[in-house]
Amino acid sequence: MDMNRSKLILLLVISALFGLLFAFDLHQTLTLDNLREHREAIASWIDQNLLSALLGYALVYVLVTALSVPGATIMTLAGGAFFGNLYGLIVVSIASTLGASLAFLVARFLLRDTLKERYQDTIARIDRGIQKDGAFYLATLRLVPVFPFFLINLAMGLTAMKLRTYALVSWAGMLPATFLFVNAGTQLGQVQSTDDILSGSLLLSFVLLGLFPLIAKFVVGFIRRRKVYAGWQKPDHFDYNLLVIGGGSAGLVSAYIAAAVKAKVALIEKHKMGGDCLNTGCVPSKALIRSAKAADTMRHANRYGLESVPVKGSFKNIMNRVKDVVAKVEPHDSPERYRKLGVDCISGEASFVSPWELEVKHNDGRTERLTARSIIVATGGKPAVPPIPGLKDMQPLTSDNLWDLQEQPQRLLVLGGGPIGSELAHAFARLGSQVIQVEKGERLLAKEDPDVSELILKQFESDGIDVRLKHSAAEFRIEDGEKVAYCDYDGERVRILFDEVLVAVGRAANTTSLNLEGIGVDTLPNGTVPVEDDMSLRYPNVFACGDVAGPYQFTHAAAHQAWYAAVNGLFGQFKRFKVDYRVMPWVTFTSPEVARVGLSEAEAQEQGVAYEVTRYGLDDLDRAIAESEDYGFIKVLTPPGKDKILGAVVVGAHAGEILAEFTLAMKHGLGLNKILGTIHPYPTWNESAKYAAGEWKRAHAPEGILRLLEKLHGWRRGGKNTKALRSTYAPD
Ligand SMILES: Cc1cc2nc3c(=O)[nH]c(=O)nc-3n(C[C@H](O)[C@H](O)[C@H](O)COP(=O)(O)OP(=O)(O)OC[C@H]3O[C@@H](n4cnc5c(N)ncnc54)[C@H](O)[C@@H]3O)c2cc1C
Repeated sequence: MDMNRSKLILLLVISALFGLLFAFDLHQTLTLDNLREHREAIASWIDQNLLSALLGYALVYVLVTALSVPGATIMTLAGGAFFGNLYGLIVVSIASTLGASLAFLVARFLLRDTLKERYQDTIARIDRGIQKDGAFYLATLRLVPVFPFFLINLAMGLTAMKLRTYALVSWAGMLPATFLFVNAGTQLGQVQSTDDILSGSLLLSFVLLGLFPLIAKFVVGFIRRRKVYAGWQKPDHFDYNLLVIGGGSAGLVSAYIAAAVKAKVALIEKHKMGGDCLNTGCVPSKALIRSAKAADTMRHANRYGLESVPVKGSFKNIMNRVKDVVAKVEPHDSPERYRKLGVDCISGEASFVSPWELEVKHNDGRTERLTARSIIVATGGKPAVPPIPGLKDMQPLTSDNLWDLQEQPQRLLVLGGGPIGSELAHAFARLGSQVIQVEKGERLLAKEDPDVSELILKQFESDGIDVRLKHSAAEFRIEDGEKVAYCDYDGERVRILFDEVLVAVGRAANTTSLNLEGIGVDTLPNGTVPVEDDMSLRYPNVFACGDVAGPYQFTHAAAHQAWYAAVNGLFGQFKRFKVDYRVMPWVTFTSPEVARVGLSEAEAQEQGVAYEVTRYGLDDLDRAIAESEDYGFIKVLTPPGKDKILGAVVVGAHAGEILAEFTLAMKHGLGLNKILGTIHPYPTWNESAKYAAGEWKRAHAPEGILRLLEKLHGWRRGGKNTKALRSTYAPD
């Protein structure tokens, strides 16, 4: 049976029950006066039929509470009046828990999916809170009898709380108030109204009781935090407020923030300030990609009415330019700059002695110990080299050593079809290497949607890259003086000849020299360290951010996390901020670029998020046409019929720049109408964001109103032919 039909049937059953209730005026039967009036008669009947009475009472109680009909309080008093304290308490506590659980399940079944669809972010946020502390909050709500019983049932049903937890906590939380009301029921003669039962001072006691779970939560948290430090001697005073290990993107931002708020901070870097991004990652790769783009332009100069020329140049010069670019950016991350900002920059390798103390082996051979209130691990990652037989003997290139290459590889084998492998494969191909790219999955850039991978594959193939999908590198050998890779493909062994192999199959977190095991911090199976929402490790004063923490391995993700690590490290005793990854953009700098923020279609499907797709082809954009770069597309995901951006991907020239508008809109809750209503200068690449919004608007045009307008205009023209040109609809 489909879901909607089941929901309809359930609604019909509930309506029928309500109908019966009202038809027989049962909702007016459950009053204190009625109870008192018929007490004798009911009591004498119960005396003769105790078991049936108990069962019948329990059944009515469950129905009343499951249907959220007013009367549960009177039913509870009746429980005490007719069955006494013990039986009354037992039957009421079981029946009320059963009824509450049924109401909870009904609310969940009827409404949760719809709410989840419409208010995805809010529901996800609530669910996270419920998962963490839901039992404590529920216990508080149950203990204080002023919170309406039926409302708690329905509201909790809309969350992700487990039924078992809900039933158990409800049962225990309701016990004190149940006891009070059942006991009051035993003295029904003295109860004039239900307000008599809850005197002011009694209510206050319940409120205090209700605070108990929250206090317990605080105490448990406090004890848990203290417990992790058992066995460690906290220093009496500290050398620093903050020690940061690693001078890459994450470490630099952490130290910068600490210095900006006047904390005493030291940054310990064992190699080069700037880390991967500056020295071996973003900066050199983007410099190389630019040279490759220039080569491509020369090779295809005829597109612009010029003479295409064979690309001649020295690879050495290209690599020297890459080095120059790095050198030019270097001062931004230099120790001199950071010292001026107030950061103590230390050249050395740090390892943990305790949660507050590091041992630093200075690069000049000295060793010293430094203490701090908080420590941030920002040690980044390194290229992972898989243990494929013979691979090490090939002296493989990685993003670490690639930049020292002096001679351009003739035949370059690239292992990996992710962002790094694809960016570098494309750059080398455009610079003239014969590139064979091997990927064991079914497509390149597997984190993106298949239409994105398809477009990139076509571009790569047209640029001469020999892309081998579903190929898994299995062995490397030297045969007749030639380097040979053997790959498994479709049950066969494929032989590939090459001159150099570049390995780009993922990155491993740098944790080996930190002595994390010495302070009892384990790493996750993927090698990163496990961080909490506030970026702390198992010690609330030790944090991690950047590639060593994951899950994103981007410079801007590292900087984003660093803010949380630094602020929580310095001010966490007062307030802790939880890292927010909801709007995390990224760009893969192939040509065309691939830029994404938010959900892809595949992710939306996986998470059960309903969505619509709006597409705009960049081949339509005047600027793209003027630059002979009229290819690629923008794809925006929105909830059906709602102006909210769930995700956007741009594939095209300048995609990274175009994406910024969608990122800003998502971050600040702006929809496509707002992008459409913003003036974009003509002719710019960014106009494409507006045109994508226009496509969305066109698809959501109010058809009924347009038909009326068509008639109105026809009538105003006085003519009979009322056909309007709706294709030019431009809501600006
Ligand atoms: C080829 C390539 C291209 C990339 N392109 C992009 C891009 O275009 N955009 C983007 O956003 N990201 C890109 N990235 C990813 C980006 O470089 C990383 O996400 C970023 O550098 C992570 O910063 P981090 O501070 O975590 O680590 P790192 O930059 O790796 O810094 C960690 C530092 O810690 C030091 N260290 C390690 N252990 C110790 C120790 N025990 N004591 C002292 N110091 C220690 C290391 O020497 C290193 O300098 C690219 C990466 C690569 C490899």
